[in-house]
Amino acid sequence: MDFSNPRFSKRKSSKQRSSNGKFPVKKFLSYYRPHLKLFTAVLVCAAIVSAASLALPLLVRQLTKETLANGNAFAIGEAVRIGTAMLALILIQNAGGYFVDYKGHEVGARMERDIRGELFAHMQTLSFDFHDRRRTGELMSRLTHDLLLLSELYHHGPEDYLKYSVRFVGAFIILFTIDAPLTLTVFAFLPVLGLLTLVFNKKLNRTLTHNKERIAGVNEQAEDSLAGIRVVQSFGGEKLENGKFGQANERFFRSRKATYRAEALFYNTFETVLQLITVAAVLVGSVRIAGSRLDLADLIAFLLYIGYLTEPVQRLAHMSSQLQEGVTGFQRFMEIMRTVPSVEDRPDARRLERAAGGIEFRGVSFRYDSRESETLNELSLHIRAGEYVALVGPSGSGKTTLCSLIPRFYDVQGGAVLLDGRDVREWTLESLRGAVGTVQQDVYLFGGTVEDNIRYGRPDADEAQIVEAARQAGAHEFIAGLPQGYRTEIGQRGVRLSGGQKQRLSIARLFLKNPPVLILDEATSALDNESEAAVREALDRLAVGRTTLVVAHRLSTIRGASRIVVLTERGITEQGAHDELLARGGIYAELYAKSFI
Ligand code: ATP
Repeated sequence: MDFSNPRFSKRKSSKQRSSNGKFPVKKFLSYYRPHLKLFTAVLVCAAIVSAASLALPLLVRQLTKETLANGNAFAIGEAVRIGTAMLALILIQNAGGYFVDYKGHEVGARMERDIRGELFAHMQTLSFDFHDRRRTGELMSRLTHDLLLLSELYHHGPEDYLKYSVRFVGAFIILFTIDAPLTLTVFAFLPVLGLLTLVFNKKLNRTLTHNKERIAGVNEQAEDSLAGIRVVQSFGGEKLENGKFGQANERFFRSRKATYRAEALFYNTFETVLQLITVAAVLVGSVRIAGSRLDLADLIAFLLYIGYLTEPVQRLAHMSSQLQEGVTGFQRFMEIMRTVPSVEDRPDARRLERAAGGIEFRGVSFRYDSRESETLNELSLHIRAGEYVALVGPSGSGKTTLCSLIPRFYDVQGGAVLLDGRDVREWTLESLRGAVGTVQQDVYLFGGTVEDNIRYGRPDADEAQIVEAARQAGAHEFIAGLPQGYRTEIGQRGVRLSGGQKQRLSIARLFLKNPPVLILDEATSALDNESEAAVREALDRLAVGRTTLVVAHRLSTIRGASRIVVLTERGITEQGAHDELLARGGIYAELYAKSFI
C-alpha cells in the first residue's frame, strides 16, 4: 500500500463546497416541484379572489348611480339583481380566501418540512469536527426559526405579489376610466407612501435584527446558567448569575422598546398619509362634482378603491423585508448543505465483513483543526486480533484521540490506521463503525424506554435477545426492579438512572451489537467501588474474544491487560506487562507510584 499517496496523507476537514457567491435560485425553486399542482391551484384562486374583490366597488357605484338617477322611482328589481351579484362576489372572495389561506400556508409548511428533513439528515452525516465547532442551540435555530421564515416567503412571496399586482393594476385602470385627474391626485401620494415604508422598514428591520440578537443572548445566558446550576449552587454563584442574566435581559428589553417606538411611529405616520390621501380625494372629488365632471357614485367608488392602491405599496415594502429574511434563512440552510462531511466513504470503499480485529497505527500524525500543534506525531502501534491492551498516560496526551481514529471519527493527516491489515479509509464507514464498539464515561441515553435504548445496538433484535444482552451486561436485575421493567421511560420524561446503571445499559447495547473491536474509554473512572465492580464484571464478559483497547486511569481497569502502552506528549514511551514496566522504573513506575492510574 502506498502511504505517500496524497489520497492517504491529506485529510480534509468539514469544508464548504464553493457557492460562486450567487444566490442558488435553481435550488431555491426546486422545492416547489413536488407541490406544484396545489400551489398553482392556490395562485389561480388568489387571482380569482383579487379580481372578485375589484368588482365589488364597481357594483356599489352602479347601485348608487341607479339610486341617484331614478330618485323616488327606485327600481327594486335592479337593486335585487345588483345585491345578489354582490353577495355572490362576497362568497367567492371568502370561500376562495379560505382556500388560499389554508392551502397556501400548507404548501409553505410542506416545503418547510421537506427542507427541514433534508437539513437534519445532512447534519447527521457531518463529521465530529463540524459538531466540535457548532453549538447545538445554533443548529437547532437553523432547523426551526430560520425555516419558519423561509416557509412564509415560499408561499406569501408569489401569492402576495400576484394578489396585489392584480388589485393595483385593476384598480388603477378602473379609476383612470372613471376620472383621470382624480386618479393622478391619489397617485401623486403613492411615492411618498412607498418611500416612507421603505425608510421605516429599514429601521424596523434593524431593530428586529437587534431583537433577535438580544433574545439569543438571553437564551445563551439562561442555557449556560441553568445547565451549570449544580456548579452555581455549590459555589453560591446565584448572585453572579442573576447579574449576568439581568444584563442580557435588560439589553433585550431596551431593544424591544426601540422596536415598539419605530413601529408606533411608522404605523401612525403611515396612517396620517392615508388620511391625507382620503381628504385630498374628497376635496378634489368635490371640485370635480361641482364642475359636473364627476357624480357622487364615482366619488364613493373612488374612496372604496383608495385602499386598493395604497395597500399594495405598503405590502410590497413589507415583502422586501420578508424576502430578505427568507433569503437569509435559505442562505444559512445552504451554508450547512454545502458543508461536505470530512469523513466519507471513498468511491471504491469495500464492506468489512466480520473483522478479525487486528489494529495497526502506522506512523500516524493527527492535529485537530482548532489546534496549532499535532496531538499525535508519527505514532506507531500494533494490536493483535483478540489482544487486550491498556492505554495509560498523563491527561491530554491523546489517548481518547488515538481511539477515535479507529472508527474514523476523525481522519489522520499523516500515516494510516489499519484494521484487518487495510487502511480504515478503504472500508465503508457503516461496516467499519459496525465493527467497533465504544463504551465511554458519559453514556448518552435517548428519550424512550429502556428497551429502545438497548435495541439501539441492533434495531432488529427481539425481546428475548434484549433481555439476554441485559443479563450479560448485569443490567437485568435493576431493569426488572424499575416501575415498568423494560418498558420504563428514561431520561427527561422518566426515571433517572445512576452512572453505573447507565453504563450497564450501554454495555448491553454492545452485547447486541457484538463488535469484534472494543474501545473502553475510562468507562469506570467515575463510578464508586460497588458500581465499578458490577460494570467491570460486565466489561470483562464483553471483552472475551474481542480486540480490546482500554483507556485507563485506574489500576483495576488494566489488571487484565496483556500489554500496557504508555502514551505521553512525546508519543509511546513504554510498553509491556505491568510487572515488566514497574521493574523498568520509567514513567509507568512513576505514574504508578503517584497512584495516578
Ligand atoms: P484525558 O486522560 O484527560 O482524557 P487524553 O489523553 O484522552 O486526556 P485527549 O482527550 O485525546 O487526551 O486530548 C488530547 C489533546 O487534544 C488535548 O490537548 C485536548 O485539549 C485536545 N483535544 C481533544 N479533543 C479535541 C477537540 N475535539 N478539538 C480540539 N482539541 C481537542
